Amino acid sequence: MSFDKKITRRAFIRAAAGGALASGLAVGAVSCGPKNSQEAADGTKAAADVKKIATQCQGCGANRCGIYVYVKNGLVWKVEGNPRTYNNAGTVCPRGHAYIKELYNPDRIKQPLKRTADGKYEPISWEQAFEEISTKLNLIIMDNGPQSVFWAQYPMANMPLAFRFMHALGSPNTITHGATCFTARNAAFNATCGALPDNDLKNSRYIILVGRNPAAGVKLQQIKDIADAKRHGARLVVLDPRHSETAVIADDWLAVKPATDLAFLLAMLNVIIEEGLYDHRFVEERTVGFDNLRDAIVTYPPEWAEKVCDIPKETIYRVAREFASYKPRALIHRGYHGGYGASYFNSFQTARTVAILNAIIGNYEAVGGLFMPLKPTLGELEKGGHPAPHIPEIEKADGAGVPGRYPAASYSDGIVQAIPELAISGKLKAGFVNHMNPIRTNPNPERVIAGYKKLELLVTIDCFMSETAAASHYVLPESFFLERDDHVDTVHSGPVGQLTVVAQVVKPMYDTKPLLDIITGLSKGLGIGKYFNFTMDELNALRLQPFGVSLEELKREGVVDVGPRWVEGFKPCKTPSGKIEFYSSQLASWGLDPMPGWQEPLVSPNPSDKNSFRLIHGKQAIHTHSMTANVPYLMQLSDRYDMIRLWINRQRAEAIGLKDGDTVVVESDIGKGYVKVRLTGGLHPSAVWMPSGYGIFSKYLKTAYGKGINYNDFLNTYFDPAVGHVMSNEIIVRVSKA
Ligand code: SF4
Repeated sequence: MSFDKKITRRAFIRAAAGGALASGLAVGAVSCGPKNSQEAADGTKAAADVKKIATQCQGCGANRCGIYVYVKNGLVWKVEGNPRTYNNAGTVCPRGHAYIKELYNPDRIKQPLKRTADGKYEPISWEQAFEEISTKLNLIIMDNGPQSVFWAQYPMANMPLAFRFMHALGSPNTITHGATCFTARNAAFNATCGALPDNDLKNSRYIILVGRNPAAGVKLQQIKDIADAKRHGARLVVLDPRHSETAVIADDWLAVKPATDLAFLLAMLNVIIEEGLYDHRFVEERTVGFDNLRDAIVTYPPEWAEKVCDIPKETIYRVAREFASYKPRALIHRGYHGGYGASYFNSFQTARTVAILNAIIGNYEAVGGLFMPLKPTLGELEKGGHPAPHIPEIEKADGAGVPGRYPAASYSDGIVQAIPELAISGKLKAGFVNHMNPIRTNPNPERVIAGYKKLELLVTIDCFMSETAAASHYVLPESFFLERDDHVDTVHSGPVGQLTVVAQVVKPMYDTKPLLDIITGLSKGLGIGKYFNFTMDELNALRLQPFGVSLEELKREGVVDVGPRWVEGFKPCKTPSGKIEFYSSQLASWGLDPMPGWQEPLVSPNPSDKNSFRLIHGKQAIHTHSMTANVPYLMQLSDRYDMIRLWINRQRAEAIGLKDGDTVVVESDIGKGYVKVRLTGGLHPSAVWMPSGYGIFSKYLKTAYGKGINYNDFLNTYFDPAVGHVMSNEIIVRVSKA
């Protein structure tokens, strides 16, 4: 099967490039209705046999937007957004349009593969794969115990299957990519208010984004809500070293020195407290530790902060006062990956300060502030008589959630960059990797490859031959998301609970299986078959049982609202005190600082070397890190708009003799690579910025192979002492003309 270039390429480029790519926030342009559809663009007419099926997009993993996929003459044709879905409200981003055509990408894995002695792969049957893998795994467990096994997975709706499988084996080592993405943020909000809130952007009157860029790290609902809020007069402040796609529409772009957002935020707290601008009643009734906070921030006035973060003190005073003046209809976005998700040594404290600044103006559970999303509780398999495996009462090998190691780390996310060391030291002997590519997305590929190659058994379950798959003993092809039924889940829940489901759109094209069938097949030879004695339909029926919603209805609608709508008004937090904790007794009990305070970044550019920069990075609207680099339509956009470039401050670049478009050599203490530069006034002079989706080195991914470089090639392996996150912007490079 080859790509239908005539039908899809032209229309796709027009929709995508004219939308999020060109303007960053042109919501109308990325909305997918008949006007933008391939049908309109190409003048074709739907035939009578066109089917429209509701499902979830998986073009970026995190959002899983509600979509309708059209099938014409048996072929997947086009996609539209489901207007009922909270996450995307009827819109589809460029990646979503392109990703459906990955069904037909010739690079797909078409049958189970086994690595041969010469490093090549031979096709084998599913029966042989299940038998050989379970035999090897049984021996490894016999010799080393179940705790020597891990499962790493990008957290999709079917993640509970991975937990079930690992718990049935007796291993606690289920791990996501979280430590490379968001765990510092989550840990800080958990410590402060007990859970991760959502942002009521639409109703807010003053919005601050700290390194968050929803126009490129695409969140379609958020883009729409920010645009709506601005239409109604809201002010938007973007604190970001780079003039990001979202900064394009900001009232204030504040080019903060990278790694110093914390100084700006501490100074905001200082102003709001010293000038008495906070919500006195909320602070008194709903928070603990205000006196400690007042003492802790006294040394961080704007006069101090401006020397650290390069934002003038007058601006800090103004933003702090404006922010407080709109209370409670003002918010600092809870953040995601950029800014402080897992970026710096001080990311955890930065996220704590963001959480506290929101609370001090009383915006928790307030219109235009932060609110806790209403996630429905799904029904459980046990209700249908299916036994649940015991949760192993042993510590995770990576130390996540273990006192004395990484106490604030998320037990369920784990610390993914620890796997190579654990493999080299012999603590981990076998692993499964599903829908994830740690060899490309973790720091220092040489070290990651050495670690994963040390495993006695590595099995990758994926649709494409990623770098990790290409280092595996066995590769098991998962059916593409359009080819399979998957879990009912609640990912779209926000101000109302929403149920949604991945529904099969077309039959599998190759000898592939959905994850449940793969795990069920493995479980028989492992002696844990009793825990996988159900079908996906049976599992989903049980998940839906509490709601009186049938699977047929959910598949027909794609999304169903359940439960009450969110209403304003403070609800008890899941913290030890039930209140917002400025002073965190939990952090104190772990030996961590219970109050926020300034922390220097781990590394800094050499001030006496004019070629020395901090390397920071982020998404482009058309790519999801390395996950979409091999999508031909998206890589065509990268090429057409010359997007594989390193951004560098114009004055700094000219001082070292660089012109726009020059090729430079980028070097850190662990890596070296070549890339073209883009000279810009839109970047703090201390930094260079690299788009995150390139540098694929798996030769099996023919579109992406060899294009661009990746920040992980330059990043040392770090573990934040509290959370264990990867500190992915703590990179110093030298940049010089090649
Ligand atoms: S943001 Fe885009 S790629 Fe991600 S799920 Fe939504 S439509 Fe798909």
